[in-house]
Amino acid sequence: MANILIIGAGGVGSVVAHKCAQAAKATGVFDSITLASRRRERCDTVATSVRERTGFHMPTAQVDADNVPELCALLREVKPDMVLNLALPYQDLHIMDACLECGVHYLDTANYEPLDTARFEYKWQWAYQERFRQAGLTALLGSGFDPGVTNVFAAWVLKHELDEVHVLDIIDCNAGDHGQPFATNFNPEINIREVTARGRYWERGEWVETDPLSWSMNFDFPDGIGPKKCYLMYHEELESLVQNLKGIRRARFWMTFSDNYLNHLKVLGNVGMTRIDPVRFQGQDIVPIQFLSALLPDPSSLGPLTRGKTCIGNLMRGLKNGREKTVYIYNVCDHEACYAEVGSQAISYTTGVPAMIGAKMMMEGQWLAPGVWNMEQMDPDPFMADLKLYGLPWQCVEIG
Ligand code: NDP
Repeated sequence: MANILIIGAGGVGSVVAHKCAQAAKATGVFDSITLASRRRERCDTVATSVRERTGFHMPTAQVDADNVPELCALLREVKPDMVLNLALPYQDLHIMDACLECGVHYLDTANYEPLDTARFEYKWQWAYQERFRQAGLTALLGSGFDPGVTNVFAAWVLKHELDEVHVLDIIDCNAGDHGQPFATNFNPEINIREVTARGRYWERGEWVETDPLSWSMNFDFPDGIGPKKCYLMYHEELESLVQNLKGIRRARFWMTFSDNYLNHLKVLGNVGMTRIDPVRFQGQDIVPIQFLSALLPDPSSLGPLTRGKTCIGNLMRGLKNGREKTVYIYNVCDHEACYAEVGSQAISYTTGVPAMIGAKMMMEGQWLAPGVWNMEQMDPDPFMADLKLYGLPWQCVEIG
């Protein structure tokens, strides 16, 4: 029975809180769950919903996760076995520092990104490998859906369906509609930084760069979603997967966007509203993307508005017993069903459920190994079984 601390009470943190409480009730894996964030009132709102839906009592706390002494004071008070970091990527290294100082295991869903450069890379977090190993602590990186489940899907396919994988296409489709003129499904600042970055994919041992959203393809999604246009982007799981997947020759990531979303983004970019550098305005420094973020709908407010489904999966081609084989492994999730269950839309849900399962794997001892790990480095089987139990059923079909 574990004592865990969740940091971040936004869209994803709220789902994690609900799902951890569900798992605690169902299995007893967690016996104490504390929820902390920059604004305590957001934690209290989530804790009230958790109590009403599950009967689980969740203490709350205020913390600035950019302040390591403040984090350590909280860790010493709560004495958790692990921290689930659902704040923003900017906080990753501070929370890892605090975990090392206080002897606490660590998990997150997004890799570190410096505030002043829109470039996410694992190098900063991989540099903690030796310190976590020597401290006997586990850091599990990227335990959301993508990264997260997509990494575990890849490991599972390589364990059960293919002897080696040559081509990997991760395809992320949100076919939901929230009815808003323009909104992002997770933190607007992080989302817009990611989408407006240059594209990048892996081909025959090197990275190839593309202009932002300049390549597209059509993909016919299952479960009645149908054909959609998908755009090539760089996504963080590619960095670890090209190192860890045996035989990989090409790895790409694709995401669907509506024309409406892309048109808004283009105009906002053209007028400078997606800039991440400070602009002097009436005697104050203002970062346009942060100001824009404050104007856009809070992603957690989209829950009651969003209809439709998401479909995220991996298309993987390789060899099985010397024969060429292609499989498609995917999950379909319904926005309204997620809202009915935990009060959030499917993007937060599909991220929060794997974060809870990653923590469960660690606290059950199945995924505890001193060091810093990406998801595909762990045994995929128990995680894949829990996806089916905790709301993200998946299918794997052979193509062609
Ligand atoms: P939100 O903006 O909704 O929530 C972020 C939360 O972090 C807020 O509660 C915020 O506090 C809190 N926070 C921010 N800064 C600090 C700080 N310095 N100290 C303490 N708390 C802080 O974001 P989301 O829930 O949409 O996203 C959470 C994370 O999940 C992000 O890192 C995102 O990149 C990742 N993600 C991963 C995905 C995946 O599939 N792997 C998919 C989607 C998201 P406050 O409420 O006071 O603002």
